[in-house]
Amino acid sequence: MNATKRTIVWFRGKDLRIADHAPLRFAAARGEVIPLFVVDPYFFAPERAEKLPNRMQFLIDSLDSLRRNIAAKGSELVLVAGKSTEVVPKLAQQWSVDKVVAHRWTEPFARERDRRIGEALGERFVLFEGETIAPPESIRSKKGTPFAVFSPFGKTLRKTFSIERPIPPPKELPPLPSLPPFERAELPTVESLGLSRNENVVSGGERAARDRLQRFLKNYAADYQDLRNRMDLDGTSRLSADLKFGTLSVREAWWASFDALGDGDAWFTFSNELLWREFAYQSLWDRPTLLREPFRANFQGFPWRELDCDENRALWEAWCTGHTGYPIVDAAARQLLREGFVHNRARMISASFLTKHLRIHYRHGEAHYMKHLVDGDWASNNMGWQWSAGCGCDAQPYFRVFNPMSQGAKFDPEGDYVRKYVPELKDLPKKHIHAPFDAPELFLLEAGVTLGKTYPRPVVDHKTAREAFLSTAKSYLKRDS
Ligand SMILES: Cc1cc2nc3c(=O)[nH]c(=O)nc-3n(C[C@H](O)[C@H](O)[C@H](O)COP(=O)(O)OP(=O)(O)OC[C@H]3O[C@@H](n4cnc5c(N)ncnc54)[C@H](O)[C@@H]3O)c2cc1C
Repeated sequence: MNATKRTIVWFRGKDLRIADHAPLRFAAARGEVIPLFVVDPYFFAPERAEKLPNRMQFLIDSLDSLRRNIAAKGSELVLVAGKSTEVVPKLAQQWSVDKVVAHRWTEPFARERDRRIGEALGERFVLFEGETIAPPESIRSKKGTPFAVFSPFGKTLRKTFSIERPIPPPKELPPLPSLPPFERAELPTVESLGLSRNENVVSGGERAARDRLQRFLKNYAADYQDLRNRMDLDGTSRLSADLKFGTLSVREAWWASFDALGDGDAWFTFSNELLWREFAYQSLWDRPTLLREPFRANFQGFPWRELDCDENRALWEAWCTGHTGYPIVDAAARQLLREGFVHNRARMISASFLTKHLRIHYRHGEAHYMKHLVDGDWASNNMGWQWSAGCGCDAQPYFRVFNPMSQGAKFDPEGDYVRKYVPELKDLPKKHIHAPFDAPELFLLEAGVTLGKTYPRPVVDHKTAREAFLSTAKSYLKRDS
């Protein structure tokens, strides 16, 4: 007679859902299920939480929602405190489980964690795909090498990889088996970690993710290809935190958008964004050093400015707080601080400004975004910063320096994005809102703007900063050729 099979389903912060969750389905099909989340006191501590307040809030809300969703199916999310590399093998032993299942992660530190757990548990530890659409190393050039350019990567994935439909959530889960006594951990609250709740951050959890998806598909998705760059409109899905924390699976976003839009321009453009995410993950998998080093070798040692003198620190402060004197750059900075989110176009303009106009090292911008973004994601954020700085996979060439005024005029034509986040400029007419420093005195007076007092003068001159960057970059990058 077969003994009952007992499985730990280890939820790990990037798959906080019960729908399209292969490890959960696998465990439920084979017998007893112990849904587990490890509350690492190193991570869930005030001194860590203040370094990622918005992500922490989203994570806690999503865990709470996961706990309720699992309870509604008849089981219980078990919370245990400790370091996962110690706790998981120990519990597997104590609870006599014959499998520990989880989703594979891409990041180098996570791969190291999984390697160690795999070493302790051997074949009992099984990782499932689900973090990305296609498994790492599955999308290769004809020569079998990783892609370094997005477009052929995306085309190859579409052509060669068959994307399965998402798995529905289990109808019910078996009740938690009786376990030997162990110490349960509490789910931390935002307040217990010393944070105050940010009401401007999108809400976490599977239900909220699905509502966001439906709202996008119903109201905006059909015009995605036209609206996605408009910073003043609600034209994008706002699903990035859901995809990061896995409150929605990327397969579900893929297929739900296909079902709603059909195979036209809107879907192609939206699904291409999901493939950019995929490209970021696959690139990080193939090149784990990306979190430390630029992709392009000729950028090694590039003379980026560090925050090591008053002048650079003042420029950095102005950029972080939204006081550079360039309204579109300042709006992006303040949206980040207020909502833990920045529109993609604004991210590109803002990152270009930091790394090119101010020539400050992209790693500082990357870390600042990781601190505040609710969707702060190692792979996508690193790719976005390296792309903007010109040193990443398929990056914007170094000589393309975004012009904040023309970008603003094009993608925030009425100036409403600036008005929302930089209210001291709200009464300027649209003709001048992206360049108050060039506005005739009368317009400034009527709008109640005094440059240098109510709103800063530009911290650098656009033309001079652009030329200085190009000259530095050109001589550095061409040094060996
Ligand atoms: C400097 C910089 C930093 C960034 N940091 C992050 C980050 O930390 N986390 C993050 O998820 N995205 C990041 N991005 C990518 C992009 O800006 C966000 O994914 C997007 O703005 C999220 O809004 P949305 O969900 O409404 O996107 P939509 O336009 O609705 O796109 C749908 C989904 O596709 C994915 N996606 C879209 N664009 C990209 C992209 N360029 N790269 C990778 N995935 C993409 C996201 O998962 C997004 O939710 C960054 C981009 C730049 C330029």
